[in-house]
Amino acid sequence: MAHKGAGSLRRGQVVTSFGPGATIDLPEISVVIGGLDWWRGYDRERIIEPRLEEKVAHVLGVPRITLYAPPAEVDDPHGPMFGIPVEVFPLWFVVDIEQRKGRARTRPLVHRNGLVGGKYEYERRKYAATPVRFVQACSNGHIADIEWYEFTHGGRTACRRPLWIDEYGTSGDLTDGLVRCECGTQRALAQATRRDVLGQCKGQRPWLPAGELCGGPGGTPEMMRLLIRTASNAYFPQKLSVLSLPEAGDRIRAAVRGLWSTLKDAESVEKLALLRSLLSAVRDGLQGIDDSTAFQYIVAEREGRTPARRPIKVDEFEALTQASESIGEDRPDGDFYARRLHLPDPHQGVLAPVERVVLVHRLREVTAQLGFTRFEGVVPDVQGELDLNVRRAALATDPTWMPAVETRGEGVFVSFKAPAVDEWRARPAVRARDDIFRRAFDPQRGQLE
Ligand SMILES: [Zn+2]
Ligand SMILES: [Zn+2]
Repeated sequence: MAHKGAGSLRRGQVVTSFGPGATIDLPEISVVIGGLDWWRGYDRERIIEPRLEEKVAHVLGVPRITLYAPPAEVDDPHGPMFGIPVEVFPLWFVVDIEQRKGRARTRPLVHRNGLVGGKYEYERRKYAATPVRFVQACSNGHIADIEWYEFTHGGRTACRRPLWIDEYGTSGDLTDGLVRCECGTQRALAQATRRDVLGQCKGQRPWLPAGELCGGPGGTPEMMRLLIRTASNAYFPQKLSVLSLPEAGDRIRAAVRGLWSTLKDAESVEKLALLRSLLSAVRDGLQGIDDSTAFQYIVAEREGRTPARRPIKVDEFEALTQASESIGEDRPDGDFYARRLHLPDPHQGVLAPVERVVLVHRLREVTAQLGFTRFEGVVPDVQGELDLNVRRAALATDPTWMPAVETRGEGVFVSFKAPAVDEWRARPAVRARDDIFRRAFDPQRGQLE
């Protein structure tokens, strides 16, 4: 390990596309982005977003997570070394020799140890080499070079004669190629796509200091699968995003604390409802906060802990649908400011189904990466939450922080009246369309026409 930063990546890309464990092509080598253990200078810029920090810690099952922006590129060679180290991967290369063997184009397949200064010497000439496109990975995100000698010889072997890749087409397609050993053994590359051929995963994760047991202690390791390292299924970052809301948990906590001498004796939701009906101070102080939510915060305050927050999108939806006139303060450096647009009353025509329109003048979204997958992506559900049981490859050996980026913008929020949405959903044309989408999602029931 010790290649300095990947250079031309933008900071946002590190979180959204090429985080730890992603492979990228540099001019002569391919590298895997190093894990958080190796990042330097990362703690220069903290991103404060408590709601997201709590969510990420909860999903990762750790007590606390701090968010930091990816370190910025510093172009001073004498300054402190900042950035994100990378590790050379894969270690096998295909040498760019134009040579034929019968109908096939044939090129040496060599380990990096066989290169000198990145070049391969063959019959007293030096040739450039390109990192091999084919690697192996498992669905837990582990990744490794294919064991080319074992693959070519169909099992364990002591043979170390030179290997060659022969290609019969020009497409670079797997089915066109074979790997050949000078001892006379050869094997079609397409066989690497067969289950069980590449063997069980050994838990390699070159983006971190050490590998791990694939499947966990006592678990069953996954089978390795062929992966084209430049293909779009080689890396899917797992991310969570929240909008910075001024009125989420903080406001409720403050309201509960403000009334603590009265609320500390509320042992049940019913008792709280009674207090609210009897005392105007409670009624005013908890305005817009329902009894069950307020009660959660009362219990949490009594036990001295932070209440489990509600799903990400529920908080955001409620902030936009329940606020009276404006949300947040109109400050130039503020994170959130929105105003309700007054519609003519009663509103008709195209506006008839519209419940409310909120003009969001200032908006900050924070996105954190907390892991990644290969082969298949995992995205948050409709509530903005990640299932706790989804597969995830680790960004760090012991996660205490995660990389995050903030995006600022503005927007318009339109909410529709529920009966109007129900009426629209019941229309025959909408139902027919819906049915096509559902069938496309369900492979048992046929295909999209
Ligand atoms: Zn051999
Ligand atoms: Zn594995």
